[in-house]
Formats: sequence, structure tokens, C-alpha cells
Amino acid sequence: MSSGSTQTDLLRVVEPATEQVLIEISEFTMQEVDESIVRAKSAFRTWFKVGPSKRARILRNIGSAIEQNLEELSITEARNVGKPIRDARGEIQVVADTFNYFAGACERLCGETIPVEGGENLTFWEPLGVVGIIVPWNFPLALAAWKVAPALAAGNTVVLKPSELTPLTALRLEQLAVRSGLPEGVFNVVVGRGATVGEHMVKHPDVAKIAFTGSTAVGRRIAKLAADTMKRVTLELGGKSANIVFADANIEKAAVSSPMAVFGNSGQDCCARSRILVQKSVIEKFMSYFEESVKKIRVGDPLKEETEIGSLISSEHLKKVQSYVNEESPIAFTGSIPATPGFWFAPTVLFPVSNKDRVAQEEIFGPVAAVIPFEDESDAIAIANDTIYGLSGSIWTTNVGRALRVSRALETGTISVNSNTSVRISTPFGGFKQSGLGRELGPDALHYYSELKNVFVSTQ
Ligand code: NAD
Repeated sequence: MSSGSTQTDLLRVVEPATEQVLIEISEFTMQEVDESIVRAKSAFRTWFKVGPSKRARILRNIGSAIEQNLEELSITEARNVGKPIRDARGEIQVVADTFNYFAGACERLCGETIPVEGGENLTFWEPLGVVGIIVPWNFPLALAAWKVAPALAAGNTVVLKPSELTPLTALRLEQLAVRSGLPEGVFNVVVGRGATVGEHMVKHPDVAKIAFTGSTAVGRRIAKLAADTMKRVTLELGGKSANIVFADANIEKAAVSSPMAVFGNSGQDCCARSRILVQKSVIEKFMSYFEESVKKIRVGDPLKEETEIGSLISSEHLKKVQSYVNEESPIAFTGSIPATPGFWFAPTVLFPVSNKDRVAQEEIFGPVAAVIPFEDESDAIAIANDTIYGLSGSIWTTNVGRALRVSRALETGTISVNSNTSVRISTPFGGFKQSGLGRELGPDALHYYSELKNVFVSTQ
């Protein structure tokens, strides 16, 4: 399939904390995207026959190559996203760990024997073919690795499209993978915008699956387009997660943990707990600890070791975040930002907010927290579930029964009790409702990159 387009557009890759252009890169033409898909299709014929232990060895080599180049990759990610270097190092370590985890999974993708009359029944998990992977700019290489590593481990080949705003570490991964022994054509990176390169991949008949992370609006469009060729899809989409603080919780611990749970990565985190639900009887106490912690957050130069929050990704995104906060907003307090060029937005706390308000219903994807008071347990559950999203969330309580009751009642994919963490490579991650379709990570991730075959052998 070719659109015939051979014209090249230049993409400006910007350093958002300085507003300087880092590099200009040519967008792939549709012909070049087709060529990448053809390479991946041809490489599939041999890659899926490579035995699981050899596949595992190559994935481990990629993990080691990432660790050996951790500082360089971290600096690139920190500069290109505007994120603190300490966070970037943590994320690149996650990339290496993800390749190592899925290296182990290559040899554990097992079918079953099922008792039937008249013969033996076997099942096999088989690779799909060419997997198209499309990821956003907030955790560029980490979110790519969550998909690339299990797709390769299951025997597929890959065409990855990073965000047009942050393509640099994906291109570096492509080089490192080949140097680690991955045959040419098994893993391919294409550079370009979603409306052009992304949609071309989604429509392409030789792409068997699209694994996507991004906004719910684009996820909906991808699901519709993918239906034409009956492509498999997994969709990791937006969120508006609730951080629920009950009166019986350790209020200080909850309040001190809450700022980075919403402002980390400048709020550009699908798991951001951007709705903080606090029981009315403890709201003053909570707000006092919370304010003290928010005011201590160090916002600034991503490359400084002490920085906790960097800039937003772009001027367009800054305008979008600003549109949610105006003179009429109930601003309780804010943090501070540097007076240098850069797409800065101060951590902002809105209180009191009703869950019907726009800031409580829409994903702002910036450092804006909405604090919502609640009466009792059933009120908290009703407010938390009153959203189209269902990705993540936290419950703070010292009552174990309540922790379990509320966990079961929340319509959300990942919940932490007395913690604000969301993701572990060895456990499943994904959304309820309009936060997505399918799961990533954890022991079952390879099934999302495989087709189940059923074979009956007659013994009569
Ligand atoms: P986005 O949806 O605009 O773009 C994501 C990717 O899709 C980019 O690579 C983009 O080029 C591509 N794209 C855009 N339009 C496309 C189209 N029509 N066809 C094919 N590809 C297309 O999202 P973003 O602004 O880059 O990222 C922010 C969003 O991502 C937020 O909504 C956030 O919640 C979500 N996100 C979700 C998760 C998760 O795991 N659930 C993780 C991180 C981010």
C-alpha cells in the first residue's frame, strides 16, 4: 500500500525548558513508512522461527546496552521532554528492566493440553506479524519499551512511531538494538506526525496490530480505523484519577505524598491523581500539610540534580493548561516557576472544587490539582467513579476492610492503598472505561501480542 507521497517535511524537535530547537528531522514520507513495514514483514519470516532462548539473549543484550548508555539516553530524554534528570534516569532504568523482564518471558509463553475425546488437543500462542506501535511524548522511551519488548519477545517484528515531539531516544534505541544482535528489519522506527505517518500505519493492511498509548480522542479514532482491516488493538488512554483520603488515614503521610502524585512530570502523566478527594472532617489538616509540601517543590532546569519538576512539553500545551485556570478559578495556592524562557506552569491547587466542574471532569495533563471534599465512604466512591476515565487511583485509610471494600467498588484499572505509585513491570497495567482497552506489562502481556491457535490430533 502506498500513498505515493514522496515529499519530506521538516520537524522541529524543541527543548521545552529553553525553547531552543534541538534538531530538525525529516518526517518520513509515506513511501518510507511503507518500506519500513515491508522490511518488518520480511524480517518476520525468520524472526518468529528464532528459538525462545536466543530471542531472550538478544533482548537481554538490548537491556545491557541501555544500561551502558543510561546517562546519555537520560540527558537526551530530560532535554527533549523538559523533565528532571533524576526522573529521566529512573525511566531509562525502567526501559532496561523491561527488556530484561520480557527476555525471561520468551521461554514462558506456553500453550496447554486440553482433555478431549478421541485425540489430543493442544494450544499454541503464535506471533501476530508486524506490530505497529504509537506512543506519546510524556515518557517517550519507557512507554515504547513496554510495547516493543513484549512484542519482540512473542516473536513479532515492530514498526515504532514515537511522538513527533520526542523521537530522539527511539532512534537511538533502534541503533542499540541492532548492535545488540537484533537482526536488521525486526525493529524499525519511523518519524512523523500522527495524522500522516500514524494514520498510515493504522490503515496499512500488512500491520497486524496497533499498540497505542495516547489521548482518548486519538484512541477512539485508531479503534475506528483499525476496524477496517480487523487489526488487533491495545489502547492505553487518558485518566482523571482520584486520590481518596479518609479521615482515619495517616493524614500527614497522605498529604506529603500527594503533590508529586499529581505534579510529577509536570502533571503530564496519565496516572496523575489530579482529583484529590478529602473527607470533610480532616480537610483543614490535610490542606495545611499539602500546602507546605507544594511550596517546597523545586521547579526549574531539568539538568540540575535538585530539580523535581521541569517544564511543560510545548507552547501549545502550555496554552491548553492555562485555559483551565483563570481569575474565577478557586486557586487555594500555587508553587513557583523560574523567570527564564521555557514552557513553565506553576503547580496550582484548586479548592473547593465540585466533581461536576470542568477541571474535575477533563484531563488537563498539567500541574493542576482539584481538591474535592466528601462526606463518607459511599460519597467518596460515587465521586471517584463519576468520570469517563478509569486508569489509576489511591486510597488512604488505616481500616483494612475499607481499603478492600473501596478497592472493589472503584471502576479503575490500578489502585494503590496508602501509596501513590501505579506501575510495576511485573504487574498488569491498563484502564477501565474510556481509559483504554487491554493490559500491558505483567505475566500476561505476551498474550496481547499473540494469537491463540487450537490443534486437535486424532489418535483413532
Ligand atoms: P496524542 O493522542 O495526541 O498522541 C499520541 C501519539 O499518537 C503520538 O505519537 C501522535 O503522533 C499519535 N497520533 C496522533 N493522532 C494520530 C492519529 N490520528 N492516528 C495515529 N496516530 C496518531 O497524545 P499526546 O498528547 O502525545 O499524549 C498525551 C495523552 O497520552 C494523554 O491523554 C495521556 O493521558 C495519554 N497517556 C496515556 C498513558 C497510559 O498508559 N494510559 C500513558 C501516557 C500518556
